[in-house]
Amino acid sequence: MRPLAELKISDRIKIAKELYNAYLESKERFNAFITLRDWDAIEDEIENCSEGLLSGILIPVKDNISTKGILTTCASRILSNYIPPYDASVIRFIKDEGGIIAGKTNMDEFAMGNTNETSYYGPVLNPWDTSRVPGGSSGGSAVAVAWKGYLALGSDTGGSIRLPACYNGIYGLKPTYGMVSRYGLIAYANSLEQIGPMARFIKDLALLYYVISRYDEKDITMVRNHERERVRKSLIEFINGNIDMFQAIVDRAFMIYPKDLIEYADDDVKEVFYKTLDFYNRFGFKIEDFKGEFLKAGLPAYYIIAMVEASSNLARYIGVNFGLRIDRATFWDMVARTRSNGFGVEVKRRIIMGAYASSKGYEERYYLKALKVRRWIRDKLLEIIRGRDKYTFIALPTSLTKPPKFGESLGPRGYIQDIYTVIANLAGLPAISIPSNYVNDLPLGIQLIGDYFTDDILIYIASLVEGKIYNPLKLPKGGYT
Ligand code: GLN
Repeated sequence: MRPLAELKISDRIKIAKELYNAYLESKERFNAFITLRDWDAIEDEIENCSEGLLSGILIPVKDNISTKGILTTCASRILSNYIPPYDASVIRFIKDEGGIIAGKTNMDEFAMGNTNETSYYGPVLNPWDTSRVPGGSSGGSAVAVAWKGYLALGSDTGGSIRLPACYNGIYGLKPTYGMVSRYGLIAYANSLEQIGPMARFIKDLALLYYVISRYDEKDITMVRNHERERVRKSLIEFINGNIDMFQAIVDRAFMIYPKDLIEYADDDVKEVFYKTLDFYNRFGFKIEDFKGEFLKAGLPAYYIIAMVEASSNLARYIGVNFGLRIDRATFWDMVARTRSNGFGVEVKRRIIMGAYASSKGYEERYYLKALKVRRWIRDKLLEIIRGRDKYTFIALPTSLTKPPKFGESLGPRGYIQDIYTVIANLAGLPAISIPSNYVNDLPLGIQLIGDYFTDDILIYIASLVEGKIYNPLKLPKGGYT
């Protein structure tokens, strides 16, 4: 196995069938796909694919990203019959570069969850240990990569790319807010989320990220400035192996960690985390700690904001324009029936909580306060990052624990697993999960958060572990061919 980014188109086409079979296995064994397209249709597209950066590459896509003519369910019963009439912009960009959509991956319903247990289509299993969760909500995408795959698309509202990437031993990037078009991403909490790449090899992650981060005027929250163009140019340099300028950055960079906040993690997680920091220290990073207890406030603020936005975004599913409809004699009965049968328990819980937290009389106490906490956290974070060198990165474990067993973190008990990841979404900062080691044959990752538009540098830093403390060729047991 070598990065697809390094293969000629003809070689990519040679392995396409093998890759498709791996996806088929991850569908059958681990429930990673909701829809896997037929090989015949894919084969036709490979033959006729346009020439570009992704020619001949089969890409699994999370099932909350709209794909024209392909079922897009958000892992919810309410959208279980929904076939979008248009492509999300990122899908259009992928197709323009010759990429081929392999199918749609399983996820938590409407991306609400971190274990993949809330899917209407049943949970995804972790291929490293099938009694454990694969992480969520982009669990299907992570498993499709971990199980003999290369790259996939996920979305990250509060950790949904990074947590499953961590639990599956792969890379996952949550881009700077505004770097990737959300047009066609079915909204959960739009002020927090970005589509992003997940990959086995860091070069493939950079390649997919380059393609999807094209400017798109269909999304007014996209940032158009020279910083984004700098990031994109630099990604191309990275893919082509020109890395001298990155090394110059590392020579002056700081890696800082919130020691007190990391105390909450399990011992084995901490051990892997500190070992990885040591590795980076030897590589030239200056390592320092800082007080991060204030970041704990991020978790309740995140959940209030996410739920409020969700309750508004999900108000459109009333059985009229699309999706499930359960007919009843009156309009309101129809809406009530459709919504109560169409949404799962977790989604309903969040709609109700979100409506409550933003309703008149309670808004001050919950939603508006959460917005203030959000701004406060962002300002404090930027002060900490910018107080040293421009190139200061915050290091944290991606997760508190190893992948939990099924059932262990369902419902409210599970929310705390997001404590390290929601921070970046609240502040809109880029963050990457880097596979860093194994504990009892289970992968673990560390997370780095950088200033706005340092996505390319995060990718370079992530590349430093590849093949050194972490082996991207290691597959889950039974994954060897
Ligand atoms: N676990 C978090 C939530 O349920 C984050 C999910 C996500 O990033 N989509 O909201």
